[in-house]
Amino acid sequence: AAALQGYAEFARPQTAELLRILSLDKPYVRAHDDYLCYRDEAGDEVEVLDIAGGYGSLILGHNHPELRRLAISQLRQEMPTHAQMSIRGEAGLLCRDLDAELHAATGRHFVITLGNSGAEAVEAAAKHARMAQLARLDAFAEQVERRLARIRAAEAAAKRLGGTLELILDGHAHTSFDAFAAAVRASNARAVVAAAPRFLAAQGAFHGKTMGALALTHKPLFRDPFLRGGTETNFFDWQRLSADPAAAHALVAAGAYTLILPGTVVDGRVTCQHETFNAYAALFLEPIQGEAGVIPVPPEAAMALVAAVRAAGVPVVVDEIQTGFYRTGALLASSRMGLVGDYYLLGKSLGGGLAKIAACAVTREHYLPRFGLLHTSTNVEDDPSCGIARKALVIARQLGDAVQARGGQLRAGFEALRTRYPQVIRDVRGEGLMLGIAFADMKLRQSYGLQLLARSGYMGYVLAGHLLHEHGIRVAPALAASTVIRIQPSAYIKATEIERVLAAFDQLCRIVDNEDIYKLIEF
Ligand code: PMP
Repeated sequence: AAALQGYAEFARPQTAELLRILSLDKPYVRAHDDYLCYRDEAGDEVEVLDIAGGYGSLILGHNHPELRRLAISQLRQEMPTHAQMSIRGEAGLLCRDLDAELHAATGRHFVITLGNSGAEAVEAAAKHARMAQLARLDAFAEQVERRLARIRAAEAAAKRLGGTLELILDGHAHTSFDAFAAAVRASNARAVVAAAPRFLAAQGAFHGKTMGALALTHKPLFRDPFLRGGTETNFFDWQRLSADPAAAHALVAAGAYTLILPGTVVDGRVTCQHETFNAYAALFLEPIQGEAGVIPVPPEAAMALVAAVRAAGVPVVVDEIQTGFYRTGALLASSRMGLVGDYYLLGKSLGGGLAKIAACAVTREHYLPRFGLLHTSTNVEDDPSCGIARKALVIARQLGDAVQARGGQLRAGFEALRTRYPQVIRDVRGEGLMLGIAFADMKLRQSYGLQLLARSGYMGYVLAGHLLHEHGIRVAPALAASTVIRIQPSAYIKATEIERVLAAFDQLCRIVDNEDIYKLIEF
């Protein structure tokens, strides 16, 4: 009761109130495997089968025994957590191991920036991409100034001999160096200002909720209270890209602009070239859009877009924070689809369910060494978290087959439910152990109560409350699609536990199909 009051009064008042209304206000006190335990009024522990899986963070389940043993031994040996400005040993080993694993999946080598959360890895990628974009502009501006200095010297030499240079810009011949240089600089400055830097991301994209990550997150519910009117990201529609093969090129071309590079002096004449830049600093994409409702991106459209973006010199950031770390059976869901990126983001399960850690891996060709000097944070690269992540990587690597087998069993079971209750389950989506069960829109059902629930926007949460109380099963809707229930258990979930989940959903579907609203909300 004290915990509940503390949370409701001093931590998140409105969230606590909502959890109470939805009967989801359980303070869990213990966790193991795919179970969370709370204490009932009598003080007895009640076990709940946890299919929400830390929103995709628990491919190894809660408190994996090997990781627990490791954490205990780390404390026993007084492993340092804070040793900033030193060689961070475990961080070095983790980044080396992640590079080896990423190299096996992509054929490329990486430099890896660690973070404390998924959103922080997204921030690192966005910052790095902006830094690269600005560095290219700075290098170009220096090249322009070097060329101008040479032209000025040539003009002075020509004047000494009583002649002039012909300085041609956009078909117009200048005879004064100063006028020519001013025109080049002004034109370039105008072009750079007009091409406001921005990112490309998909409609439905979810990349986190810090200011930078939020700028890449599509849902107005999350953005509008903070970033109203922001134009930092262009959100494209995967369906439109799928329907029109030329759309990818048009999308990238919309960000293209040119800058003027003065040429060298040839026979008393200087002409100018145009060099192409792009306002997009990076494309961010999720191979399966988790929070949008577990929606796999269309592979052909994704391949075409990635090719067009990379051809324009714009890096592709593959956000595998939810899809990665063997969630779909492989280290990266994107490599299973044949997608190649320039940056890869990992988070969630990377910490093995124990550590808070995320990673932004940038290919060696793209990495700017200066970034590592400038992008730092007090808590990153701590030995304990890095050690746990390193061990988690070793354990998870062996689970690909289990993920496929369990994922297949869950999928087949839910497909059968969809066939049995076509009016209730609209779609079963996803891969491996990242499945989304999309419930049909209930706004047009006969029951007024069901319509009301659907209109409230909390349908998925009501279903979650029912499953928790009637069946002792914990599920959660996707963050940006509340009628989609995410199914993200650990790779260790047992066949019998899957049967239990399917039986509970079967009963739930029957209740919804019969529009027995009271059975749904009274427990
Ligand atoms: N990217 C993706 C694809 C995610 O699913 C999430 C979290 N749901 C994030 C980034 C943000 O991660 P975090 O919540 O750890 O900040």
